[in-house]
Amino acid sequence: MEPVHRFAIVGSGPSGLFAAEALKQALPACRVDVFERLPVPFGLVRYGVAPDHPKLKSTADVLAGIAALPGVRFFGNVTIGRDVQVADLHAAYDAVILACGAQGERPLDIPGADLGNAFGARAFVGWYNGHPDFATLKPDLSCEEAVVFGHGNVALDICRILALPVDTLARTDIAAHALDALADSRISRIRLVGRRGPAQASFTPKELRELAGLDGIAVDVAPADLELGPTCSAELAAGSNPATGKNLELLRKLAERGPGKAGAAIEIRFLLSPNRVHGTRNCERLELVVNRLEGAPFAQRAEPTGDSIEFGCGLLVSAIGFRATAVPGVPFDPRQAIVPNQAGRVIGPDGAVMPGMFVTGWYRRGPSGVIGTNRADASEVVATLVDSLEPPKGGREALPDRLLAPGVRHVSLADWQRLDAIERERGHVTGRPRDKLCAVPEMLARLGDERAITET
Ligand code: NAP
Repeated sequence: MEPVHRFAIVGSGPSGLFAAEALKQALPACRVDVFERLPVPFGLVRYGVAPDHPKLKSTADVLAGIAALPGVRFFGNVTIGRDVQVADLHAAYDAVILACGAQGERPLDIPGADLGNAFGARAFVGWYNGHPDFATLKPDLSCEEAVVFGHGNVALDICRILALPVDTLARTDIAAHALDALADSRISRIRLVGRRGPAQASFTPKELRELAGLDGIAVDVAPADLELGPTCSAELAAGSNPATGKNLELLRKLAERGPGKAGAAIEIRFLLSPNRVHGTRNCERLELVVNRLEGAPFAQRAEPTGDSIEFGCGLLVSAIGFRATAVPGVPFDPRQAIVPNQAGRVIGPDGAVMPGMFVTGWYRRGPSGVIGTNRADASEVVATLVDSLEPPKGGREALPDRLLAPGVRHVSLADWQRLDAIERERGHVTGRPRDKLCAVPEMLARLGDERAITET
């Protein structure tokens, strides 16, 4: 048989599976092995996308189709850097594509941030989405006031999940433990706070419109917060980011409506930075400094005015950006939190391109863009890869042997399909799209011990 190219992809989220799709399109005969730390695939789509966004969640069906393509194999529950080294992959495959996403986040580095019931978005989002790393988080929702810090789409997701009626959430694939906790939530005021002004907010108009239109949930904005200084007006007049103008239009409409009375109220606040969290065991109050903007158009920074303000805050979620983390054996730029690369080709410590090593998605460019951005990114990286491709190494297939080593229990696509069926069946009973399995030992126990590696 003619030798074919074999590729390894690390990560089975959208960036990894879109890369597999692009490889199969470019080189139909190639073999692609996709490695994933968790026993289940789809990364950000399963664990990041908000459960009340079913259309976006249905990207999982597209990704499942890619994972099932002939010549593509899934190896779940395999940690690269622990069970298998990147160097092993590099030696065994014609090329390796790293698609590990952003596994960490920017910390809220202020006194008191380590008090109970103060979380980063990664943990909080992971909790309500049933991510095994965060399934036991147990946030206390018995308080009345919550603060979500950050003005991006992740912060909006968190506000919606905290504010939505439980009947609405009960029709989604939200984790059962989160549904139970939110059913008993007493939170009635959520403050969505950002350090800069409305012209700098990074949430998008579609998501803001969705928040503003939630049935029975009042969203308050103070008109004074929407008065723009000359630099912000200049930014707006430049028109380089149409989303800003649309955001402002929506915010002005909200401000005109006046303070709402119905349901859980969301209050959008600008130019405030948390300074200290107060509380005994859990957070209770949040002290914030009032900011003003300084700097040139599009480079305005939040600078403290010297004034401060305090909010009741029984739950604090900080959503100020995810960050990629280093994988052993892979060059990493800690300042930008990305793998140094040139059009997706990994740059080694000596400044030279590392042959056969590629990076895509958030691990390549940082946590920005929508899910579809990763498809375009993957096509670009795969085009670079194809351009630099040598003839197939051929020969041995070293990796699968390693996967049979003691202590490594890999999960195949067929295994995942069994878990998927179990989750859908559990969900069916309660009228939900699925009821997720949220603990790795339970997932593995459901599968038993048989692990056959087969060519597809
Ligand atoms: P993001 O859009 O980059 O927003 C991060 C927010 O954190 C900004 O308000 C930023 O304010 C603030 N921030 C950053 N560093 C800070 C610091 N040191 N101190 C205080 N505030 C700080 O990130 P994200 O919300 O995590 O979203 C990540 C990506 O996923 C985005 O591209 C987003 O659009 C996408 N996403 C899309 C959807 C959707 O389509 N429905 C849902 C969720 C996420 P400054 O501007 O002042 O830095």
